[in-house]
Parts: sequence; structure tokens; C-alpha cells
Amino acid sequence: MTVTMTEQNYWLTTAEIPQTDRSQSLPESADVAVLGAGFTGLAAARALAKRGATVAVLESETIGWGASSRNGGMVLTGLKLGVNKLVSMYGHERTQQMYAASLASIDCVEQIVREENIACDFGRCGHLEVACKQKHFDDYARQAEVIACEFNHQLRVVPRHELPAEIGSSIYYGGMVDEVSAGLNPAHYVAGLGCAAMRAGAAIFENAQVQRIERLSRNGASEFRVTTSRGALSARNVFVGTSGYTGAATPALRKKIIPIGSYIITTEVLPDAVARELSPRNRMIYDSKNYLYYYRLTPDRRMLFGGRAAFFPETADTIRKSAEILRRGMIEVYPRLRDVKVEYVWGGTLDFAFDIMPHAGQIDGIYFAVGYAGHGVAMATWQGQKMAEMIAGEKPENPFVDIPFPGAPLGLYKGKPWFLPFAGAWYKFLDWVS
Ligand SMILES: Cc1cc2nc3c(=O)[nH]c(=O)nc-3n(C[C@H](O)[C@H](O)[C@H](O)COP(=O)(O)OP(=O)(O)OC[C@H]3O[C@@H](n4cnc5c(N)ncnc54)[C@H](O)[C@@H]3O)c2cc1C
Repeated sequence: MTVTMTEQNYWLTTAEIPQTDRSQSLPESADVAVLGAGFTGLAAARALAKRGATVAVLESETIGWGASSRNGGMVLTGLKLGVNKLVSMYGHERTQQMYAASLASIDCVEQIVREENIACDFGRCGHLEVACKQKHFDDYARQAEVIACEFNHQLRVVPRHELPAEIGSSIYYGGMVDEVSAGLNPAHYVAGLGCAAMRAGAAIFENAQVQRIERLSRNGASEFRVTTSRGALSARNVFVGTSGYTGAATPALRKKIIPIGSYIITTEVLPDAVARELSPRNRMIYDSKNYLYYYRLTPDRRMLFGGRAAFFPETADTIRKSAEILRRGMIEVYPRLRDVKVEYVWGGTLDFAFDIMPHAGQIDGIYFAVGYAGHGVAMATWQGQKMAEMIAGEKPENPFVDIPFPGAPLGLYKGKPWFLPFAGAWYKFLDWVS
């Protein structure tokens, strides 16, 4: 059948993003200038303003324009890298702190949603990882055991014959469930976070692209001059939460972040019985491949199906091509969706560090939190909150601060990801052999 769809973010059709007064001038100064009005920047702005700081959020486009309104809305435990890999990189203690942070990040989202009364369909529906190969499934039992022993957190391994209770697809070798993960509508959430930041006293400036950040020294104290497309301001501190859209204004950070495209389609609204058959427990689902698919039902019962259909960040061309690739992927998983209409397709950009880890701290005196690698709904919120506490002079525990933050091998990358086609082919090769 032909795909009849709109190239538009479905979530944005359900939400009202708060408007700001675009004629308002920038203040002369602020305690903190925050770059980016996504989960990271807005969570930080809210927490800083609640502590009495004057905050100017500077956003190139509009509130939630980046990945924060475009994602799958999966609020996931764990990190992109598996725990064995984390232990080999950081040792037991640091890995324990990181895993605990991933659990705390979900509580953090839940608490903000509750405190700020954000109607975003947040629900602890749990996530299901499904195994594309027998050896991936065999590894689940080992992972669940390590996570139970080391991190005191329970995952449930689901053998193949019990999978029908979790998913209406017969292509997988088994699964693993984490009941702690949650789902939400990301556009409603980022809109609510924006309103909460403004209610707390933060000022948000849209269409204010930061072009230059200069460090000045005045009377022995250092401060920053931040120049935007809407004028300039001075700030005692600068916090960068620009994720996959990190650009020329922060060159040191840009060199360490690889922007990678991710794409999503959503179907028409499904009959209740069909939706229940596809996902009986309404889980957030993803598969075990490197080049993975992730999918879920939306609150109004559409199938939302996403993946790294093209590796490059979104353009009209990659979005269009992705629609057909994703539709084919969806039908492989759920053959009964063959004749269902795909109504929306869109894309967004993820931020991968070279070690696939989240990173936070200071670079050239500028605070930052980036590197969520497609695992950022909860972690970006948590990092925003923790970095605000750090900027305010509190000493929060944050195991992602000051871990080694590698750049490209041999310095072969300045911010233009020429190697993405090779990386895409490499991941496909890994999925084939592993
Ligand atoms: C298609 C897709 C699906 C995803 N699905 C999931 C999921 O299901 N679960 C999950 O946990 N994570 C998911 N993610 C990842 C998650 O959405 C991100 O990790 C998270 O939204 C990052 O939030 P952020 O605030 O750091 O960045 P963003 O939301 O990307 O915001 C960065 C903002 O910075 C602005 N900006 C950039 N440069 C400047 C500048 N110079 N001046 C001013 N502003 C600037 C941009 O305009 C942008 O609005 C997904 C991402 C994508 C793209």
C-alpha cells in the first residue's frame, strides 16, 4: 500500500508549546545564561530560578524544538552501554553510582511532573527489551543477575514461550522487562517544563541563537559575554544543554559530540483490540541490535515506531527515506500492520560522545551536560537538575562529572561528521556478526 503521511512531529499536534514575547529585549546581565530550551536547559533553569538565581534561557528556535519534543517518550532505566562494559571502564563503585543515577533520573522526572502538575501521560508502564538472536537472549540472564547482585535492581527475563503476554510479535527469541521505566508524551512534558521554568522566574528567549561566548575578567572575577542573534548579555555562569544541536558557539564541546539522526513514524489510531494484541502491557519496547528499532503505543493508541533509519541528522530527504525503511521494519515486527496507514514521520538529532557516555562538568569554565546517546528523556532532566545544584555551589553527587571525555581518535573530527556513512555500515556489520 502507499504511505499517506505528513512529514510532521505527531507529538506537536497534541501539545501547545508555550509562547514567549519575542519583542522583549535581553537583560543586560544574568547570573546564569542557559543555552538550549530542551529538557536539560529547562530543568536547569527551573532549578536555578527556584534557588533565586536570575536565569536567561537562550534558544535558537523555540521551546522544545530539539530532540526534547521529537523523541519516543521512553523514560528508561540504565545507560546506553551495558553494565559489564561500564564496570570494565569505570570499576564497580562508579558504575553503581551511575546505575543508581539512572534510576534516580526517573524519580526526578516523576517528581517534577507531580510538583508542576504537568499533564503528559507519565506512567510507569515498564520497558521490554526483545532479543533478535538466541545469543542476545542468553546474555539477558547474565545481565539480570549482575544487575540484581551489583545494583540491587530486579529485571525479569521472559522466555520465548511467555513473550505473547508482552508483545504480539513472534520474531524474537525472548525478552527482558524492567517495571521501573516509564512512558510520557515528550511535547507535553517539555511544554510543561518550559512553563515551570518561567513560573519559577527564569526568562526564556526564543529565536536567540548564541553565536559567541567570550570569557572576560572584571575586577579579578571572571564573567562571560554571550552574544546572540537578539543581542548580547553578561553572565556570571554559562550552562550548555544543546545536545545533538551543539554548534559553533561552543567549539570545544562540538568536537566531542557526534550528531546522529533518529527517525519515527506513527500509524493511524488503532482499534483497542489490535493495540492490546500488539502490546498487551503497553510497554516501551526496543530490540537488542546496535542499529535498533524502538516502539510503543501512543496514549491515543497509534503505533509509534522509531529507529536509526538513516545515520545523518534530519533533512527532508532523510525523513522521507526513513518513512519507508521504518514502515518495512514495523511490518517485519508486526505483519498485521501491513495495511495500516502511516500518518506521521519526523526525525531528530541525538548526541553521541565518542565513548557513548553522558558527560557533564566544565569545559573552558563553561558548564555543560551532553552525550545522552538516545537515552536522554530522564537523564537530561536529571543532569539539568544536578548541574543547577552544582552551579548554585551545592555539591551534588554526579558520577558523570569529570570522567574522561574523549574526542575523536587522532583529533580527526572538528564537528562535521564525515564518517557517519562508515559508522552506519559498521553498526550494520556488527548486527550481522554479533
Ligand atoms: C527521534 C528521537 C527519539 C528519541 N527517543 C528517546 C526515547 O524514547 N527515550 C530517551 O530517553 N531518549 C530519546 N531520545 C533522546 C532525547 O530526546 C534527548 O536525549 C533529549 O531530548 C536531550 O535533551 P536536551 O535538552 O539536552 O537537548 P535538545 O532537546 O536537543 O535541545 C537542545 C536545544 O539547544 C538549542 N541550541 C543549539 N545550539 C544553540 C545555540 N547556539 N544557541 C541557542 N540554542 C541552541 C537547539 O535549538 C535545541 O532546541 C530521542 C531523540 C530523538 C531525536
